Amino acid sequence: MSLFPPATTPRLIVKIGSALLVDPDGAVRRAWLSGITADLAVRIREGQQVAVVSSGAIALGARRLGLAKGGRASLEDAQAAAATGQIALSQVWAEVLGAEGLTAAQMLVTLDDLEDRRRYLNASATLGRLLQLGVVPIINENDSVATAEIRFGDNDRLAARVAQAAGAQGVLLLSDVDGLYDRNPAEPGAVHVPRVEGVDARIETMADRGSASGMGSGGMVSKIAAARIANATGAHLAIASGRVDRPLSTDARHTLFVAEKTASARKAWLAGGLTARGTVHVDAGAAKALADGASLLAAGVKRVEGAFVRGDLVAITGPDGPIARGLAEYDAEDAARLLGRRSEDHAAILGYAPRAALVHRSHMALL
Ligand code: GLU
Repeated sequence: MSLFPPATTPRLIVKIGSALLVDPDGAVRRAWLSGITADLAVRIREGQQVAVVSSGAIALGARRLGLAKGGRASLEDAQAAAATGQIALSQVWAEVLGAEGLTAAQMLVTLDDLEDRRRYLNASATLGRLLQLGVVPIINENDSVATAEIRFGDNDRLAARVAQAAGAQGVLLLSDVDGLYDRNPAEPGAVHVPRVEGVDARIETMADRGSASGMGSGGMVSKIAAARIANATGAHLAIASGRVDRPLSTDARHTLFVAEKTASARKAWLAGGLTARGTVHVDAGAAKALADGASLLAAGVKRVEGAFVRGDLVAITGPDGPIARGLAEYDAEDAARLLGRRSEDHAAILGYAPRAALVHRSHMALL
């Protein structure tokens, strides 16, 4: 498939909607799942790092528990169905990926986990490590404990947040729609929109008119919300139909939402209306390393100022002035204990398994 090839998209998030994974009678669509898993395997062999956001837990669990209305009659039902269905869903993923010689890892997160910067750093580090290890993260919302109501379409936004945390360049939303139309696609004369440069009010109106028809489980509104989030953080997003056998190797019709320029979008998100809670002063060697794209290691830090906590935005200043801003991986107090010390010593100083850097390069924007 030409969409999001490994060369331009080293990291890709694929979101799969419930209707693609589970039949109307509640059984797993295994043949389809094996097809997309074969596609994933091809991409991974080509060097692409792929994480999957998989819906389907509620649909699967509802069948097992014999619950009415697909498990969505009440919030307790939905949460019980999710808890029951999730374990089955993970098992299926482990099996189909295993058949391709791939290893699955399960991550259950809430949108809050990815919006709170402290927890965001944890999710991001775990995802990054799994992807480096060549494992396929299978991600879903932690529906059985999610405090907000479980809504259809949550996983669209979750996929966009996951892309942000993983530093992915592309998000592919697979469902039963092949993209955005200028009006409800059931209306005569509806025109498919192949490309969107910037989600604006006009695009949102199109989505509203589309979802009024109840098309797709998540509807177009949540997909547009996902596109906005993904694009703002530098990831392109595509909506494509998964109603084909090998959706990742078919060049099917889709809508591509083009991201803003990666670097500036990332910078804007990092700044995100936040004021820096502290300043990290680094030596000339570290300043040069950062300019070359490295993470900030404690060995190159001379002094920390401010009462920042893990996840806060900090300013990074070199001998010649400010050079970067980024999210601190440590509270100021712990950062101060690590100053000038080599990474090998950190575990002994802190008494717990350390993070690799004081500010990781994927959460840093050079000025
Ligand atoms: N997390 C839900 C599930 O696994 C799906 C949410 C959605 O429809 O986006 O069933």
